[in-house]
Amino acid sequence: MIAKRTSSLRVAVIGAGPSGFYATESLLRHHESVEIDLIERLPTPYGLVRYGVAPDHQKIKSVTKLYDRTANNPRVRFLGNVEYGKDLDHIDLERYYHATVFAVGSPADRRLGIDGEDLQGSLSATEFVAWYNGHPDYIDLQPNMNASSVAIIGMGNVAVDVARILAKSVDELRETDMANHALEALAESKIKRIYMIGRRGPVQGKFTSQELRELGNLKNANLILDPKQLELDLATTQTVETSPLAKRNLAILNELSASSQETKARELHLTFLASPQKIVGINNVEAINLEINRRETGSEGYIRAIGTGKTFQLQAQMILKSVGYKGTPLKGLPFDFERNIIPNAKGRIIDSACGKPLRGKYVTGWIKRGPTGVIGTNKADAVETVKELLDDELPSPNNIDTKPQAITDLLKARGVLYVEFSDWQKLDTFETELGSAENRPRVKVTNTAQMLRISGVK
Ligand code: NAP
Repeated sequence: MIAKRTSSLRVAVIGAGPSGFYATESLLRHHESVEIDLIERLPTPYGLVRYGVAPDHQKIKSVTKLYDRTANNPRVRFLGNVEYGKDLDHIDLERYYHATVFAVGSPADRRLGIDGEDLQGSLSATEFVAWYNGHPDYIDLQPNMNASSVAIIGMGNVAVDVARILAKSVDELRETDMANHALEALAESKIKRIYMIGRRGPVQGKFTSQELRELGNLKNANLILDPKQLELDLATTQTVETSPLAKRNLAILNELSASSQETKARELHLTFLASPQKIVGINNVEAINLEINRRETGSEGYIRAIGTGKTFQLQAQMILKSVGYKGTPLKGLPFDFERNIIPNAKGRIIDSACGKPLRGKYVTGWIKRGPTGVIGTNKADAVETVKELLDDELPSPNNIDTKPQAITDLLKARGVLYVEFSDWQKLDTFETELGSAENRPRVKVTNTAQMLRISGVK
């Protein structure tokens, strides 16, 4: 429970994805007069809900209705197409706001650190996801749709999303808001075999049960899982006894491996206990070498994958590395290069040099705790950060230029074409009208200049 506060307060929230919206909502709820600028690099709000959540998961995307309510609050102003570190920096923020909450997520991807990782045809799943979702920075990606086999490295929900999208027919995907360039490319897909490869065992998969179950119900692909892969070691048997999620996932995997189906156009293979060693090819990816692992339980009960020295090769012309997102440093702020987060204590940014909190600077979401959890996880995370913010003694109002217009005047003077929420709503209407003509949720505009024109700011 956070006590309501009333003193004057202007806060900048950097990043209009789920964590930024939850921080904004929590501030509104716990401070009667707070004014918030929700500042976003892209001309569109919602972050990974628009550019990360799979296009065939429209129900999850309906969370934006709640975010719209927050954005339409008169004490909130959305300023899109404004990039922290380029259009504004920490000195500007200190001049115009009592506090700043950084909610910028984890925009980069982790690397495997193996030979061949940069061959043509080896991509990160995060890039591929951004491409099919129409993120303006990734529209030129050109994944190899002539590949007959694709290997996806990782057993998290992103790997599941990517596998499912590749397994579906283009007719199934045409009902979604997948970007048109991706629909056109996927219509030409020659993919026959999709391999999902996990370095640990089936019970250590990071997927959630609902996502896993969907893989067994694909119209266009048979799920192939050798029952031998589901044999457990002693430590895993104990995990299954104590973890309801592990028990549920194992039961689903057993069902999936036993189910016989008529032959479909594509095969989706689940392969556990195998680690990528090398991506093979001259210029383009041709295959991947994998080492078979065994499980070993560490001192804290964590089950690790240990290489056995036995290897095998899988022919694949496209590799999608789905081994997690990664945070990146921000101008003027400390960074923990081991954990790839901004160092913080319950959301207060900690100055690495002296170990003390940086006055008026906070983090929430993935840049605070790392890329874990589902969308809703960010709500409790934001509440924790906002509680710390409201408990703190913030910079004196006399040092702050509290006129809301001051920041927009500065942006205008710097030639920044900022997008307000009503501008975004014009683009939203444009996209949804195009979509309804085609019986789709929306047709996304993917070019930034065009987005700005339709929003009426250019
Ligand atoms: P993730 O859940 O952390 O999964 C990463 C996967 O990569 C794990 O299987 C991990 O194996 C594996 N991995 C890591 N390093 C590896 C290496 N060097 N070699 C081989 N495998 C390696 O990450 P994510 O899938 O990117 O998802 C990020 C977050 O978004 C998660 O919290 C996820 O639940 C969420 N998300 C949710 C949804 C949804 O709710 N529908 C959809 C998409 C994403 P180990 O376990 O052995 O480390």
